[in-house]
Amino acid sequence: MRATTLVAASLVPGAYTATAAPAGAKVLVIGLDGAMYNKIREVRAPNLLRLVAAGTLSQTSLVPHISLSGPSWATALTGVWDRKHGITHNDFDAAPFDRYPTVFTLLERAGRRTAAVATWSKIATIAGSGTPPAGRIVTTAPVPDDPDEAKTDAATADAAIAALTGDAPDFLFVHLDQVDFAGHRHGAASRAYLDATTRVDREVGRIVAAVDARAGERWTVLVTTDHGHLPKGGHGGQTRDETATFVIARGPGFDPGVTDAHYALVDITPTALDLLGVPIPRGLDGGSMRAVRFAPR
Ligand SMILES: [Zn+2]
Repeated sequence: MRATTLVAASLVPGAYTATAAPAGAKVLVIGLDGAMYNKIREVRAPNLLRLVAAGTLSQTSLVPHISLSGPSWATALTGVWDRKHGITHNDFDAAPFDRYPTVFTLLERAGRRTAAVATWSKIATIAGSGTPPAGRIVTTAPVPDDPDEAKTDAATADAAIAALTGDAPDFLFVHLDQVDFAGHRHGAASRAYLDATTRVDREVGRIVAAVDARAGERWTVLVTTDHGHLPKGGHGGQTRDETATFVIARGPGFDPGVTDAHYALVDITPTALDLLGVPIPRGLDGGSMRAVRFAPR
């Protein structure tokens, strides 16, 4: 095992040396657009809090990164902040991902199978970029008569569960949007925002149950958000509410009940690469959440 590690290091000078992927290693990332951890606690969202209890939690801030979905999901899915990938709003194309390949591209190049299932259509722009793009990309068609996006997110969760049945990918990213929708419409201080948080927690529970039902595989579940929301709704600025973010990591190597402020959105991609035994490229702003436990940055 040690010899293998040394060979891998010599092939990729200077790169963080990922350990060989344990047999059956798989990664699920759930992105909850506009969700806030203090609201998850307030509604006692059972499924998310169960992941926290069984895993590691980090609550961090996006400062000095723009608190919008485009920049933030690009960061989660590349491992670099907005100043590198250059995406500063929600209207972007695939060009930045030539320079900073997505986690999908990096994994596919290494022979791992990837998929993205999303309510927000711009996730498909990220997942569909590069050579090769994600192996499977699903954008949920908006469900008619869905005033709070609950039905559309349920359809996204259904599609994610379908992807997790049978021949599951090695890496799956799922994006759910209804909490952000409630934030824009009613504000983070509203009852509607709390209700959306409770509803999205149920979708998280269904998706994680599909992972946990798979025998003989070692899944790591990562949950994160792209930004928070003002009490009156909206985001993009640098207030504490807008920049609030979190990462939950549950799986082999993440101790139960640990809180560790070293983890952020930018660490999602390098962590997924590390967990799946794929070398982390140089020049990323993030690092493996497994590595920072031993070498805090
Ligand atoms: Zn938003």
